Amino acid sequence: MLFGKKKEITPEIYSKDTCLSCTEITKRHHEERDYVYGVGLQCKKCMSPNTIVTAIYGEYPEEDR
Ligand SMILES: [Zn+2]
Repeated sequence: MLFGKKKEITPEIYSKDTCLSCTEITKRHHEERDYVYGVGLQCKKCMSPNTIVTAIYGEYPEEDR
């Protein structure tokens, strides 16, 4: 039997925005239009619109342990 008892878990996808004005790094849920070095969301700390996406990665939920 193949994969009979394996529980399928989909990782959550996150993006990291880095602010070019204050260097704040913001972790948030990935959106479809995101890509690495693309334009990020407005910085929540200094309200600057000059942010770039510096990382996109998946994380498994905590309950997996
Ligand atoms: Zn900022």
